[in-house]
Amino acid sequence: MSSPSGAGKTTLSRKLIEADNNIAMSISVTTRKPRPGEVDGKDYYFISIEKFESMIAAKELLEWANVFGNLYGTPRKPVEDALARGRDVLFDIDWQGTQQLAQAMEDDLVRLFILPPNADALRTRLIGRNQDASNVIAKRMAEAGREISHWPEYDYVVVNENVDEAHKEVVAILMAERLKRRRQLGLTDFVRGLMTGL
Ligand code: 5GP
Repeated sequence: MSSPSGAGKTTLSRKLIEADNNIAMSISVTTRKPRPGEVDGKDYYFISIEKFESMIAAKELLEWANVFGNLYGTPRKPVEDALARGRDVLFDIDWQGTQQLAQAMEDDLVRLFILPPNADALRTRLIGRNQDASNVIAKRMAEAGREISHWPEYDYVVVNENVDEAHKEVVAILMAERLKRRRQLGLTDFVRGLMTGL
């Protein structure tokens, strides 16, 4: 799931995780400083640049990118463990990370882009969040345009005008993707069993 900062992606991810036991949130590592209220190990693992670089060198990151001057990356092991247990994994990452995941696992990836209903809503949400200095907010509005320009690289686009509606749309996308024939493991045996009873 990608979006410009302030489009409601964090809220939508949390709602999805709460609504569905079979999906795990990937917790990224970042060199960004924690914002007030952010918890290490829950929102992110807040690490040093040195540690980040050592994780790149050890190939411990599935993807990584420089976003707004800070480094962000997806630890590989928790994702592989969750997938091995048959769970789905939700990534809150930018377009650069999405491109890397698409290279690594195109068939397994569902790309979803969240858009704000208009520019004012984005600005209001960024100011309302009130956790970043005003120059950071201005920079993020400018960056929003660049992030948004990547929307055609995604499989689905949800306009988040109303968070409950947007959530329903996200749940519908997840369900439809899980019902794709190639994702329904054991279908051959199921149908074979079905046929024997005909
Ligand atoms: P924030 O600093 O507001 O939490 O996140 C800034 C941007 O970095 C968001 O667009 C978020 O999706 C992206 N991001 C967070 N974690 C990762 C990650 O592990 N990889 C990549 N490529 N982007 C990330």
